[in-house]
Amino acid sequence: HCPVGALKERDDTEEFLRAIADPKKVVVVQVAPAVRAAWGEGLGLDLSEATVGRIFDSLRRIGADYVFDTAFSADLTIMEEASEFIARFSNGELKDKPMFTSCCPGWVRFLKSNYPHLTGQLSSAKSPMQMFGSVMKTHFAQEIGVDPENIYSVAIMPCVAKKGERNMEFFNEEYAGHDTDCVLTSRELVRMIKAFHILPETLEDSEPDHLFHDVTGAGIIFGATGGVMEAALRTAYHSLMGENCPPDAFKVIRAESQKTGLTEATFNLKDIDLRIAVVNGLANTRRLIDEIDAGTKKYDFVEVMACPGGCVGGGGQPIHDGEELAFARGKNLYFLDKNSKIRYSHDNPDIKSLYENYFGTPNSHKAHHVLHTDHFAWEMPKRPTRDRDGYIIRERH
Ligand code: SF4
Repeated sequence: HCPVGALKERDDTEEFLRAIADPKKVVVVQVAPAVRAAWGEGLGLDLSEATVGRIFDSLRRIGADYVFDTAFSADLTIMEEASEFIARFSNGELKDKPMFTSCCPGWVRFLKSNYPHLTGQLSSAKSPMQMFGSVMKTHFAQEIGVDPENIYSVAIMPCVAKKGERNMEFFNEEYAGHDTDCVLTSRELVRMIKAFHILPETLEDSEPDHLFHDVTGAGIIFGATGGVMEAALRTAYHSLMGENCPPDAFKVIRAESQKTGLTEATFNLKDIDLRIAVVNGLANTRRLIDEIDAGTKKYDFVEVMACPGGCVGGGGQPIHDGEELAFARGKNLYFLDKNSKIRYSHDNPDIKSLYENYFGTPNSHKAHHVLHTDHFAWEMPKRPTRDRDGYIIRERH
């Protein structure tokens, strides 16, 4: 806490409640994978009680019209990102540099401000949060017969940087404006449940809504370091080999193997040696990118998460002074993956019907239009020039 109270945690719950109270708005809420691993800590629930189904129940009681699991749009991100990677890798577009994952706004901002010459190496796939919002304001709005302008898209996230990512504007022919209208952190969710006097022990497991009901274990592990890469490799394997790999075939890249916040591995798929790296924490990331830049390390695909342990350790999660729970929370997501009925994004029935009924194929023209972004469309503000004493030199106009 700031000792003089000059810095306050940003709280957007009022915005959300204003939309709930507006009869014109259809409020659709998504819940990120990492939130389920931590929200119970703020309400005294143990792991078996703190299910995502009970978060859905709390959101419905607060007034949300539709509730969904971001693990669904994480599956969608995998479909797009895995096929983008195979295409860019096969046509030689990546040259001797890797493709980087792009779902962490803390990392994307870090890359653009510190290594702008590598911006083109980012995957163009939007993050699961943004993909969810764009699907809500296009296909879902059409299906329920609502003007996209009246869809109010809310994201419950483990992350403070997602509030900044939300500010990015995307324009297409169906709607103009934000993919996501409001981002609330896990801490804001917990405060809201308390403010509504919802007794945690009265919450019941409830299912997400249709059309985007089904999720997979691959989508759930997005919340832990290595999860995006592992989910992408399961789907890339299927695309290249024509069959599913054993679900734990790539488990060597999970957090438990990351002694230094970095894992490197080479996998042979159809006579191709795929060199991958998974890194978390920005100090570890800087060391890795400096080596990639200098040409001393070579990879084909790299996953980066700004927070230690990935999103489970995000800045919006419950805080316990002096305790780091990210890795314990990550283990919970792998437990949920192991116990999921479906463990491959490409086997998700609702993802299949979304492609059949709307997008066609991954990376189709329509999918590009709605689910991808142009990383060159916004640039980081230039760093100010300073004099010898460190004062900013202002330009005269
Ligand atoms: Fe946000 Fe941290 Fe997850 Fe990046 S790793 S998306 S900054 S919570």
